[in-house]
Amino acid sequence: MKLHMQILIALGLGIKRNWHIFFGIIAGILVGIFLHGHNFPFINTLLIFIGQVFIRLIQMVVIPLVVSAIVIGITSVGDNKQLGKFGSKMILYYGIITTVAVAIGALLALIFKPGLGAAHYIAANSASEVQAAVSTAMAQQQGNILNIFLDFIPSNPLNALAHGNMVAIIVFVVIFAIALAKVGDVNRPIVSFFESVFAATMKITDWIMFLAAPGVFALTASAVSSFGIDIFMSISKYFGVLAIGFLLQLFVVYPLFLKFFSKVNVWILYSAVAEAMMVAFGTASSSATLPLTIACCEKRGISHKISSFVLPLGATLNMDGTALLQTVAVIFLAQAYGVALTPFLVIQIALLAIIASSTCAGIPGAGLITIALILNGMGLSPEQLVAGFAFLFTIERVTDMMRTLVNVTSDAVVVAAIADNENEINYDLLNNPQAYEDIA
Ligand code: ASP
Repeated sequence: MKLHMQILIALGLGIKRNWHIFFGIIAGILVGIFLHGHNFPFINTLLIFIGQVFIRLIQMVVIPLVVSAIVIGITSVGDNKQLGKFGSKMILYYGIITTVAVAIGALLALIFKPGLGAAHYIAANSASEVQAAVSTAMAQQQGNILNIFLDFIPSNPLNALAHGNMVAIIVFVVIFAIALAKVGDVNRPIVSFFESVFAATMKITDWIMFLAAPGVFALTASAVSSFGIDIFMSISKYFGVLAIGFLLQLFVVYPLFLKFFSKVNVWILYSAVAEAMMVAFGTASSSATLPLTIACCEKRGISHKISSFVLPLGATLNMDGTALLQTVAVIFLAQAYGVALTPFLVIQIALLAIIASSTCAGIPGAGLITIALILNGMGLSPEQLVAGFAFLFTIERVTDMMRTLVNVTSDAVVVAAIADNENEINYDLLNNPQAYEDIA
């Protein structure tokens, strides 16, 4: 079958099964455009309320889900050597995808030069609340990159759990689960306990998904209505470069990656995880989408052993869409303010984007805060930094929705590749779009 037919059929199937969510996104965009410029405070409040109900409900299951998934995943692998193999493969694959993303971002930004002549537009946008947010972000990121890594180690795991500090939680749970695997049979009560927790959280996720269409509709409508589409016209070049970059990741890089490293058909995979992709777009949060990403992958034949370990880590560490945006955004600002973009500086930006993106949490807006890590070394004046940030904030939500979709898709791509390499995919399920395994 011709490639474009395969793409259309797969996307069609993914959308058909989740047409209500797709409809929610489209209706959300249209209603958002209509609401922009009209004053309907009640409707706006209602949309925000519905969106928040949906997001909070899925966030509610994330921590029990992550903890239980990792414990079951690691203890079921058992053997440390095998775990090390999965872990290093995961880091390698995430690394490849993110490196390609920053390279694409840098190349596109250098070729299309979206920032040239944009300085005057940037200054017009600096609002005082943004300035305050920026100063805090810059102060937090100031100084030592090592401190960021230090924060990954929780001195008090319960504190990390209570504050939803995802990376710290994962670090603790991974170590804890490895220890559990080592102690042998005495681990049974705890592992059974987490098996029950996992099954119940998956069940709750199923229930919450009844709200996916109105939730995604409300989130999209309120995001679009807050700035309308006129803003895109004035910064169309910046937006266009980002959009091309994201499309290249989705339609060129991941297909090639899967072809090269596995025998998974990328279009079938997209159709399997379409629901998670759409919810990622609506919520702009990889962490909030995680329960669904896990559900989509496991229902379509990717083994729990792999997905429960790789996906939670991916949702917090693998942010290639964010890295691409950060690279384009920083080069954009450098061009706007006339900073000379030497090859050395471009490489520095790209490397820092890899670090900054992987230290950012899978929540809305996190990628724009960690961008401060890259901007700090750029030699811009504080005023320029503030104005630049304010500019990036103007279309933050929509770019966040797009990059989160990319982040979540690449998590699924990497987990599928590892599962394929380890013979942990049930291809009868994956290749049959009608089939669904009940995992809860
Ligand atoms: N919202 C993104 C995510 O959850 C992170 C970011 O802000 O770039 O994947």
